Amino acid sequence: MTTDSNSTTQTTTDTNWTPVYGSLAMTQHAPFRVMPEESMEPRIAKQMISDILSLDGNPTLNMASFVTTFMDEEAEELMMEGMRKNFIDLDEYEQTAELHNRCVAMIANLFHAPTPPKNMPHPGTGTIGSSEAIMLCVLAMKWRWRKRRQEQGLPADKPNLVCGSNVQVCWHKACRYFEVECREADVSPDCLVLTAERALPLINENTIGVCPILGSTFNGEFENVKEIHDMVVELNATNGWAIPIHVDAASGGFIAPFTDPDLLWDFRLPNVKSINVSGHKFGLVYAGIGWALWREPQDLPEELVFHVNYLGGDQASFTLNFSKGSSTVIGQYYNLIRLGKEGYRKIMLAGMANATYLRQKLQDMGLFTIVDKGHMPLVAFALKDASKYTVFDIQDRMKHQGWIIPAYTCSKGAESLAIMRVVVKQNFSQAFADMLVQHLEDAIRYLEHLAAEGHLLHVKELAVAMDVIESKRLVHSHSKNTGKQSHRKTEDRTHGVC
Ligand SMILES: *Cc1c(COP(=O)(O)O)cnc(C)c1O
Repeated sequence: MTTDSNSTTQTTTDTNWTPVYGSLAMTQHAPFRVMPEESMEPRIAKQMISDILSLDGNPTLNMASFVTTFMDEEAEELMMEGMRKNFIDLDEYEQTAELHNRCVAMIANLFHAPTPPKNMPHPGTGTIGSSEAIMLCVLAMKWRWRKRRQEQGLPADKPNLVCGSNVQVCWHKACRYFEVECREADVSPDCLVLTAERALPLINENTIGVCPILGSTFNGEFENVKEIHDMVVELNATNGWAIPIHVDAASGGFIAPFTDPDLLWDFRLPNVKSINVSGHKFGLVYAGIGWALWREPQDLPEELVFHVNYLGGDQASFTLNFSKGSSTVIGQYYNLIRLGKEGYRKIMLAGMANATYLRQKLQDMGLFTIVDKGHMPLVAFALKDASKYTVFDIQDRMKHQGWIIPAYTCSKGAESLAIMRVVVKQNFSQAFADMLVQHLEDAIRYLEHLAAEGHLLHVKELAVAMDVIESKRLVHSHSKNTGKQSHRKTEDRTHGVC
């Protein structure tokens, strides 16, 4: 490049000592369609990307997500090391595989699973999250049901699964991907979960499993697993069926054992055959870890387990994924031994205390009805009077302060109920609750003022209007570009946020 000393535009090339923001790259677009021909200095690439990411929401202010946003520095260091090891190469990284098996054993023990026969590992596996774990458990239930039907010479072509309409979206995915009819019981505005009474009429000989949730995504309520379990056990005895219970304990699995150890929801109930839990929710590990656990080896069909030997030795593998880093498994083992039951108990009880505090503050404001049941460190609430402004307007206003607090309508049977939810994660201290309430009060004052002046444009209506515009655009582009499906088909839209 030539140098023109009179020019004010930058024409020199960068050197090692060029300041980051004096570099040529900072006066050009960040590459976005075509991979650049030339390399760039690492410090400049890093700054450029870090600047782009600075517009993301702040994870600490993300009250929407159940997923962990704080870990010990020591855990972070170990996890960085773990990124270099492919988790699936169990034979090369035997110690990592050993830590994985210890996690499975410890969590199975926490859930009161029977001890497996001597020298056998507990049947279970680490996954990317509860979604993958649920897919694996649905497959296992489907295969067990089919085998039983075939042995009895009965048709096995119409499997169904029974759950509440309040299930997380991964259940709909699992059912569609693996061709199982999803039989969902409606909920109602005054009872947002599955009950034994609601499940009963949906169950028949083709039911591969009944699936209560320990910690509904919508309002954090623990479904009455024991009541549903006992109903299914009775039904099995009367009809000669063998329908198992699977518990979706994505969030509750790491809460109930510490906050309510006597609650019967896990393998203490004999017909609970499998459980999933998210390590990255209240297991307190960063995103990317879940666990699928079966009661006993016979609950996991052997045909679904692959034995791979091309890396030397024999590895049992039952996952939908293959290669991935080992970080999250190491992070989970770190938490289990560093925190111990004492640490988890203290963190869960602190979360419950802060949730109770926030719940009380919201109640004191007089504007909200509380719709959670205090089962989890989570507060869910609805507006008593949504005629002037809605929870969607509050969500939007809180976003101005950086708070991410989701508002959503409830599932089938309770669609008329719009609620907001704050997940009280471990790094949500009481000081945080105070700031949140203060900003909520400011937001309400602002909305009241706008409503009084008649200036309020409801966010929900705006969103609907935008959707109409967008769907018209999509229809238009479809007519030119047939065959391509939009991801935004309304029927597939999910309500809660995880
Ligand atoms: C979060 C959640 C899931 C999905 O879990 P991931 O770990 O995000 O895959 C499934 N079920 C319930 C009840 C959940 O809360």
